[in-house]
Amino acid sequence: MDLKTVLNNYSEGATQILDTEIQLSEYCPIDLSSSNKKLEEFDITSPIECQKYIDNVLKRNSATVAYGGYLENRSLYSKSERFSNTGQRNIHLGMDFWCSADTEVVVPVDGIVHSFKNNYDLGNYGPTIILQHEIGDTMFYTLYGHLSLRSIKELKTGIGLRRGETLGTLGTTDINVNYAPHLHFQIISDIDGYEGDYPGVCSKKDLPFYEKNCPDPNILLKIDTKSID
Ligand SMILES: [Zn+2]
Repeated sequence: MDLKTVLNNYSEGATQILDTEIQLSEYCPIDLSSSNKKLEEFDITSPIECQKYIDNVLKRNSATVAYGGYLENRSLYSKSERFSNTGQRNIHLGMDFWCSADTEVVVPVDGIVHSFKNNYDLGNYGPTIILQHEIGDTMFYTLYGHLSLRSIKELKTGIGLRRGETLGTLGTTDINVNYAPHLHFQIISDIDGYEGDYPGVCSKKDLPFYEKNCPDPNILLKIDTKSID
């Protein structure tokens, strides 16, 4: 079966990936694409200003978590050298969940710890965990970026984790590395030898490959709420 079908069939309703005390009604979508004109009014590459914008969206929507971003074309990365040295990489391949540091991250699908690493260079993921899953004869991976240091402190590769178990917590801006606190969640079909890391943004040229290898995480999570603009 193809991965998108497997993900879609996994559960009928929504799957939680954060502290389950946070109700789905407290989630609101956020548009961080370069087509959102409101983002031109401030420097989104500054975690403080980015957080201010997120806080406003959360407040307007009486929400706790702002989510979205799959295949979003973003200016969030455009100033950083990390994303411009090999052709402009600005298309986001995961789904982000913007909420407070220390928010608990829970496992969405049974799996084992494939690998983990602190990708601590500026603009990278900071502490990152990759889980490996097998549903039927389909193998795939999920990546969790911008976690806290303690999330990976006593972790071991190969250990099994069940859906709903705590995986870790979200990191602070200094640890995650220089972003407003959020979870980067990405689904990967072929991990291509990567360990504790995998590209989370790509250039337009590479999009056909990555779009296929990294399907929309919300096919699995099925979080569907509306937002007040
Ligand atoms: Zn992200």
